[in-house]
Amino acid sequence: MLDVLVVGAGPSGLLMASELARYGLKCRIIDRSALPTQESKAIVIQARTLEMFDHIGVIDSFLEKGIRLQAVTPISRGHPLAHVSFAHLPSPYPFVLSLEQRETEALLTQHLTSFGLTIEREVELTSFQETAEGIQATLRSKSGQEELLPVKWLIGCDGAHSIVRKSLEFSFTGKAFKDVFSLADLYIDWDYPENQLFAFLDSQGFIVAFPIPGKKRYRLIFQLDRCRNQGGEKELPPPTLEETQALLQRYAGASVRLHDPVWMTNFHINSRMTSSYRKDHLFLVGDAAHIHSPVGGQGMNTGLQDAFNLAWKLAFVHQRRANDRLLDTYNLERHGFGKKLLEVTEKASHLATLRNPILLTLRNCLISTIARFSFVQNFLTRIISQTAIRYPKSLITRETGVFGGPKVGMRAPDATLGDTSLYTLFRKSTCFHILLFTGPKPDPGVIEECSHFAEEKKAQLILIRHPQLSLARPQGILDLNGTAHRLYGASERTLFYCLRPDIYIGCKTEKLLKLKKFLLFIKP
Ligand SMILES: Cc1cc2nc3c(=O)[nH]c(=O)nc-3n(C[C@H](O)[C@H](O)[C@H](O)COP(=O)(O)OP(=O)(O)OC[C@H]3O[C@@H](n4cnc5c(N)ncnc54)[C@H](O)[C@@H]3O)c2cc1C
Repeated sequence: MLDVLVVGAGPSGLLMASELARYGLKCRIIDRSALPTQESKAIVIQARTLEMFDHIGVIDSFLEKGIRLQAVTPISRGHPLAHVSFAHLPSPYPFVLSLEQRETEALLTQHLTSFGLTIEREVELTSFQETAEGIQATLRSKSGQEELLPVKWLIGCDGAHSIVRKSLEFSFTGKAFKDVFSLADLYIDWDYPENQLFAFLDSQGFIVAFPIPGKKRYRLIFQLDRCRNQGGEKELPPPTLEETQALLQRYAGASVRLHDPVWMTNFHINSRMTSSYRKDHLFLVGDAAHIHSPVGGQGMNTGLQDAFNLAWKLAFVHQRRANDRLLDTYNLERHGFGKKLLEVTEKASHLATLRNPILLTLRNCLISTIARFSFVQNFLTRIISQTAIRYPKSLITRETGVFGGPKVGMRAPDATLGDTSLYTLFRKSTCFHILLFTGPKPDPGVIEECSHFAEEKKAQLILIRHPQLSLARPQGILDLNGTAHRLYGASERTLFYCLRPDIYIGCKTEKLLKLKKFLLFIKP
């Protein structure tokens, strides 16, 4: 029996299948369309997704193809309201990477191929049945030939109209915005720098300009007067170059010239999510589980994070390395995050489309006042970049009442260690990690005991030696000036961190015994 069938080869499906293959599972990945995405669609790759690309070993090709956007500048009536810079983001990737979705898919397909997997195109999942052992899937190829495929796990990465979700009769509740929005990929001649994103706002509406790879190339998102309150009614004609030129000129000044449009279209904003991400051997990932407003560029990134969250759990359970209950945490963690994200993107969309002049003035004052504070900027950029995602309550995150350092449930921050870094040490790993910060005076024997335990659990032990600790036989990595100890709240004490394979902090404790208890659900 095949281990996993991944339905859909969009970004979520591509990452899902390659991650499962990286963990050694046998998969097939099918897509009903003959060709991959031809359009630019999602162009924003957030820092947390870049950290994940670093982990799986594909970051260099993404950095080579994409362009780095350093800041967001909202502008009203020619005046910048703020300048929200990503420079202080605590990540090795303190920027937003702009890259068209078709390029992202091409790079992820290349990665998939490196595991010997190919996308089976023009193959559609038409139905499935749950069996005692797993799933019986019915696939139909272009020629109309049907195949009955017994498979242990089935993952629906089949987009917003997911047949997997519909067949499970899961609800997909939410709302559709009344307004219709427009998008244009084209070239702009103007004086604005190409390393940041500009959002022009006023009482008439907004237009956002995202630079995309290629000189003077941009994605514009905006709203035309004729598209207001038109949602759900007849199909509206797409924006014209003249309309878009007039709109941008009004906001950005006369010396603006738009030319050579590549893609101009209208789109509706739907904000919806499914009631559950899992039923027994079936899972939903990406747009099949949630769709939201493009504000903040979260959609594709969220689908990729879903896949990253699920892959290791499924692999551990399938390979009988962990208790089956581990799989429930996928729904708990990702459904929980998806719900919060939907609320935030809905609110942000309402703010961007305000019409009431009093509320508009208030919004602009608020932006220009609060966004000047660096703590507000840090907060905003951490949310947008998805580096602030936290899973505080879960079977695999346990609070142990230890203060200082990053909190349990957060993704572990990177730290430089001499000529290497934590993220470099984790790269391509498929196991739990134990970080042992020795502090200046560790208990005798604790290093040895911890390394036996790590070996027994097949976890990677990273021993980080405090600069004041001298050992008869130097072990581990010297934290030369104590930066990593400070960052992790371990300057004055011995501290153990247990990181999950997706680099989220599962447990933080001063006592090795508590760490052992935490890892009980992992079978050696
Ligand atoms: C105009 C636009 C701009 C966007 N901008 C951003 C952005 O800046 N940042 C961001 O993060 N997100 C953005 N998004 C959202 C992003 O494009 C989606 O979130 C992303 O494509 C979802 O990926 P996915 O793999 O989950 O689903 P999809 O990309 O929809 O892929 C689903 C795949 O499943 C296949 N499929 C469906 N049913 C079956 C079946 N029965 N059998 C076999 N195959 C099937 C389909 O052919 C398709 O290839 C944007 C979207 C649009 C439309």
